[in-house]
Amino acid sequence: MTHQPFDAAAASAAYNNALQVIAAVEPTIAGAIRAELEDQRSSLKLIASENYASPATLLTMGNWLSDKYAEGTVGHRFYAGCQNVDTVETAAAEHAKALFGAPHAYVQPHSGIDANLVAFWAILAQRIESPALAEASAKHVNDLSDEDWDKLRKALGDQRMLGMSLDAGGHLTHGFRPNISGKMFNQHSYGTDSETGLLDYDEVARKAREFKPLILIAGYSAYPRKVNFAKMREIADEVGATLMVDMAHFAGLVAGKVFNGDFDPVPHAHVTTTTTHKSLRGPRGGMVLCQPEYADSVDRGCPMVLGGPLSQTMAAKAVALAEARQPSFQTYAQAVADNAVTLAEGLMKRGVKLVTDGTENHLVLLDVSSYGITGRQAESALLDAGIVTNRNAVPRDPNGAWYTSGVRIGTPALTTRGFGADEFDKVAELIVDVLSSVTPTTTAAGAASKAKYVLADGVADKTRAASAEILDKHPLYPGLVLN
Ligand SMILES: *Cc1c(COP(=O)(O)O)cnc(C)c1O
Repeated sequence: MTHQPFDAAAASAAYNNALQVIAAVEPTIAGAIRAELEDQRSSLKLIASENYASPATLLTMGNWLSDKYAEGTVGHRFYAGCQNVDTVETAAAEHAKALFGAPHAYVQPHSGIDANLVAFWAILAQRIESPALAEASAKHVNDLSDEDWDKLRKALGDQRMLGMSLDAGGHLTHGFRPNISGKMFNQHSYGTDSETGLLDYDEVARKAREFKPLILIAGYSAYPRKVNFAKMREIADEVGATLMVDMAHFAGLVAGKVFNGDFDPVPHAHVTTTTTHKSLRGPRGGMVLCQPEYADSVDRGCPMVLGGPLSQTMAAKAVALAEARQPSFQTYAQAVADNAVTLAEGLMKRGVKLVTDGTENHLVLLDVSSYGITGRQAESALLDAGIVTNRNAVPRDPNGAWYTSGVRIGTPALTTRGFGADEFDKVAELIVDVLSSVTPTTTAAGAASKAKYVLADGVADKTRAASAEILDKHPLYPGLVLN
């Protein structure tokens, strides 16, 4: 069993009643919620960052915990009457610590990007001795005067961060120019080897020695391989950097012990950030785990960059983390990784070029240029056929970050539905059928369009029918019936 077992009759009643209550006020919204379940059930969801949380996790988010303000931390709130939020936040943090073997967990961040902001400021506060920073982090962001910001900027000076480049698979919060991380820090990046597509630790070490970053970031959104975090820590230690690992994408593989030893970031990083809604299969949110020396600074996420926590989401994090502590989650995580290998092999044996020629995690990055199409055309044509993916740049992408030459796919969601090797091999076949039936439209000037295309007649219908057959055998939320 790869999904979380649940009481289908009780869940059906809960959702039907909830939808009735919502429809009485705003039927459009009840209709959209209903339609979303139908869409999720009927599409082949291969988006590497998505999953299906359990009904228990989802139901935990719709209640009056949402109505409570609880700025501060457990035992140190800026509002009265936070006893139940304290229970919730304590439970979520305890589950996170136990699951990941982390000395400290901060479960308030609303998303992955918020978790990274909390981590950046915590590292700055910890590493840079400055009264301006101490003063600023004791105030609510809204209370910082222009003069405070001025002092802050001077105190921060020219702090340096070294992270994986976006086109090699890094995330925009790791120093990409248009993101705040690229504005706050003097940022440099490391890429991947131009031949193998693999992370080159010698290059990371060389850049770290040259650049002397305050923060070395590891982690990715579109790199299909494991990262050796013990090696990254050695590099960080050699140059006096703080090692921050952003495991947003692969936290489920860490939780499920598929990534262990040198590949488990938590014991090696000073600070580890994550989302909770990707491979970890929890509610939409973020978390920061850290070594004891960073705990006080991390706990100051509110008021530094956060306001009141989403108590209902912290509660759902506790539920999802409790699920992830069960042995069945390890079975799930191993299946996610095994299925990714099947999917990669299924694509390669049918002639698809993959970045790094394979995978060691939950995701596969296709280079679709050999089909004479862009990532954007591939993404759209696959969607026409009911296969949901996202386009993604490949290293040194000639088509840039908008059109791209790649498509990223992942196994966490369909593995939750119970897909195994046979199903993923069939998925590979369907993807190849679609990709080989796409022809770019020719523009008036005679060039191939990067966006428009024609999908050969009948391919979309045939693919939809074939995927419906597999999807029907692996229902999403089995037994959950909306009336
Ligand atoms: C998804 C992701 C994030 C951002 O998460 P959000 O919840 O969308 O803000 C941050 N870092 C990495 C590596 C990610 O993959």
